[in-house]
Amino acid sequence: MKTLTVSVVTPDGPVLEDAYEMVSCKAESGELGILPGHIPMVAPLTISAVRLKQEGGSERIAVSGGFLEVRPDKVTILAQSAEKPSEIDIDRARRAKERAEQRMANKQSDIDFRRAELALKRAINRLDVKNNNF
Ligand code: ATP
Repeated sequence: MKTLTVSVVTPDGPVLEDAYEMVSCKAESGELGILPGHIPMVAPLTISAVRLKQEGGSERIAVSGGFLEVRPDKVTILAQSAEKPSEIDIDRARRAKERAEQRMANKQSDIDFRRAELALKRAINRLDVKNNNF
């Protein structure tokens, strides 16, 4: 089976680099499935899970938006944050979810509401990736 190199990078440094058979992710324009030999492209990602398929099984990573760059033999994901399930602190994500829900309930301004909404999405995404809930 052909593979492509996938590299996930955040401002804190590299999170992962390895060879995979397929990358599935959620761009702003919709779901993408990328196989080796894909045409070059760049796409913005949503707060979502990236799925990486290897011969022995699959891996998943929670990303909080960012960009995907595709070349025929390489996929680079640049994200503000990216965590493997083992790196996700479930209590922290639960607390972040509750905080965001409270902020949305006590809406102060549109900007605060939008920020809380994004924080809620990040927290739910982390909980879903941790629990393999898709
Ligand atoms: P919090 O309010 O808990 O900080 P957040 O969504 O505002 O959550 P981010 O700004 O997305 O946090 O991330 C800041 C840093 O903290 C990143 O390095 C990210 O990987 C890490 N991080 C955030 N939440 C978690 C979590 N639940 N488990 C592990 N790492 C986390």
